[in-house]
Amino acid sequence: MDSNIKRSIIIDNYQNPTNRGLKNNKDSIKVKANNESCIDEIDLEIQITDDKLVNIHFDGEACAICTASTSIMIQKLLNKTKEEAIKIIDEFNNMINEKEYDEKLLGQATAFNEVSKQPNRIKCATLTWNSLKKVLKN
Ligand code: ZN
Repeated sequence: MDSNIKRSIIIDNYQNPTNRGLKNNKDSIKVKANNESCIDEIDLEIQITDDKLVNIHFDGEACAICTASTSIMIQKLLNKTKEEAIKIIDEFNNMINEKEYDEKLLGQATAFNEVSKQPNRIKCATLTWNSLKKVLKN
């Protein structure tokens, strides 16, 4: 992916993130994701019905990388089963850790494939993905 395209994906998702604002549904799971090395403090709200992630929302304050990455994560994981979602999260981590990854499966999330060159941004990019994975593993 061209670096201008990557940049515009990140900026678009930062300025108009998907599903910002919590719904406070009584049957959803809430989790806090904090990154002490940045300003990132995000609340995630996940609704799982019949093993599927039918709703994911977020709110809070975060940098551009963290906000954009959370927005893209939501697009990628909505309506996936727990198992499919964990697979996508693992592939995202593989990419960030410079291992082999499934480019097709990650789609727009590959806009973050150069984050590994900026070690202080890695946690910003992976924060909410890994918080969500913890929820799915429980
Ligand atoms: Zn950050």
